[in-house]
Amino acid sequence: MTVPYPCATSPSWSYGCETDPKDEGGNNGRYPWDPPSGWEIINPAVRRGPFRVAVFDFDGTLSLIREGWPQIMVGRMLHHLRQQQLIREPEAECAADLERFILALNGHPTLKQMELLAEEIHRRGGTPADPEVYLHDYLEALMAMVQQRWEKLTTGAASPADWVVPAAHQVLRHLQQRRVELYVASGTDRGHVQHEVDLLQLAPYVGGRVFAPAHNDPSFRKRDVIRQAMDEQNICGAELIGFGDGVVETQEVKRVGGVAVGVASQPAGRAGVNAAKRETLIAAGADIIIPDYQQAEALLAWLWGS
Ligand SMILES: [Mg+2]
Repeated sequence: MTVPYPCATSPSWSYGCETDPKDEGGNNGRYPWDPPSGWEIINPAVRRGPFRVAVFDFDGTLSLIREGWPQIMVGRMLHHLRQQQLIREPEAECAADLERFILALNGHPTLKQMELLAEEIHRRGGTPADPEVYLHDYLEALMAMVQQRWEKLTTGAASPADWVVPAAHQVLRHLQQRRVELYVASGTDRGHVQHEVDLLQLAPYVGGRVFAPAHNDPSFRKRDVIRQAMDEQNICGAELIGFGDGVVETQEVKRVGGVAVGVASQPAGRAGVNAAKRETLIAAGADIIIPDYQQAEALLAWLWGS
């Protein structure tokens, strides 16, 4: 059995809840485990609900509007390196290294990746521009693609379901029915995230609780959003569940003692687990890996141990 959470009446910030030692993993004594098919339980001691707060990453976790961003970022970074003749290895090798480091920073404000590019240019003997210049250049290239997708959603040429991780609306609805408070924490510019929440018709679920850096403010941290959510709802880490396709949100949810669901999502129209994301998410500490939310109801029933 699960003991009542002592932190419900304790100071607002707590990393964990005390649990009955017999309740290892919060499984309510139900063995063997029977997670929905297609789901992978990485942590056999994963705690099962109830959860009171769910924090979602946005890009790649709910929205697919920006899918393809790493390829655009790598392309622009190669352009800047090429301009100063700083690529001495085969270009494909350089591109693969760039992609690895930008994905490792996935979840931080985008300026961090541009700061790393400036450092790399300096390391290779070049003269870097201000990271803000690189950010502007990247955003211009990215937005050319994103705006086409906005246009399709605005005109009705595409439906919200076309540009979300499959069944994203359903998982949010099921969580809402379970009275879970929903938060979004995104490293993407806040104005854009708000606009895309509206275009994708996600506002009824997460409307008032979308947190992202205003004007790409580099001091924004998902850690602070998680802390705010826990303070506002007066919960401890064990009552928090996080959904994300990146390193940062996964690590931050684990840091406070929550359950991290790794969403190894594929590009729109493709099914199954994204192998590269799966590997990154497991390394970051994800408890469970899912490809999408197509079995949302079964997953939540399992997570709640019901
Ligand atoms: Mg993401």
